[in-house]
Amino acid sequence: MPGALMSTRAAGASKDVAALGSRKDGSRPVEGMVRSISPSAVAAFQQCPQLFYYRYILGLKSPPTRETLKGIAVHEVLSLFFTLEEGSRDIGHLHELFRKVMTGLIAQDKEDPSRGYGKLFETQEEEKKWVVECLDLVANFVRVESDARDDGEGDPEHVELRMTHEFGGGETAAGRHIVEEEGEGGQAGDGVAASNTAWSMNVTGIVDRLDRCPDGTLRVVDYKTGKIPNLKYSEATNQRIMDEKFFQLQIYALLVERVLGEAPGEMRLVYLKGPASVTRKIEPAALPSVEGELRSTWDEIAGSVRRDSFPPRTSRLCDWCSFQDRCPAFDPALEER
Ligand code: SF4
Repeated sequence: MPGALMSTRAAGASKDVAALGSRKDGSRPVEGMVRSISPSAVAAFQQCPQLFYYRYILGLKSPPTRETLKGIAVHEVLSLFFTLEEGSRDIGHLHELFRKVMTGLIAQDKEDPSRGYGKLFETQEEEKKWVVECLDLVANFVRVESDARDDGEGDPEHVELRMTHEFGGGETAAGRHIVEEEGEGGQAGDGVAASNTAWSMNVTGIVDRLDRCPDGTLRVVDYKTGKIPNLKYSEATNQRIMDEKFFQLQIYALLVERVLGEAPGEMRLVYLKGPASVTRKIEPAALPSVEGELRSTWDEIAGSVRRDSFPPRTSRLCDWCSFQDRCPAFDPALEER
């Protein structure tokens, strides 16, 4: 496998800045309203409406990185873990699964080179190092699972559970309708359709796993391939950091409640680099409050669509934004949406 993804140069962002900043960019028109939102779309809009516009209205993809490819490969391996017989759930079998997953990803990349996986590694050494990092995460997962078995935990009730729920209507958004579908790496799908459908909030999401705890409580679980955040700030800031991390899981919990008819009582983030897990109870009052925040973000998105205005909101996260070279906040000569 090492060498299979090697190429000469990593993909760079398009330099077609002026064209994309302009209304004559050939992009899809903003003639609608988002039909459904995912936790990634909510997070993107809350971070920066201009970022949301690039990702979910123009449908631009961020170039892949080694970290995003690692996330895709490791999540896919872990989703297959519970298809193995209990006696085969060891590191050797997971390495085999990893090889199969990578073979599939390499085949997809050959079929559609715009995925850009083949351009992520300059040398075989770089690729080998990346493979070892992935296998370390997979090995950590085996340890986490083994400890969970010792604590009386069983197999999840669901793995990679896709859920969609329509939360009911509200105001209309001038008959506008933009289709958003979560794709790889939280990117938009490419559908935009005109519609006169009344405003109705649809939320969609894929939860990594849904567990039944030994005490009967349902638990939503999300895997992270990174490290647990370094909580070195004030108590209030540390709390805010973890609240933000858990917000996505609360959306999943709300979806589980609506789709399966049972509210989860617990949520867990599993950081595979470490590894470390953080678990929180979900209080009954939390889910209505999450729904309220979703509705408020939905209203803001609808307002942005009506006004055709997605102002940039700069923050330290701009340092990691792949659209900086076309963003009016970084070049006033570019037209703001
Ligand atoms: S660079 Fe910053 S302000 Fe511009 S789109 Fe990205 S996140 Fe928004």
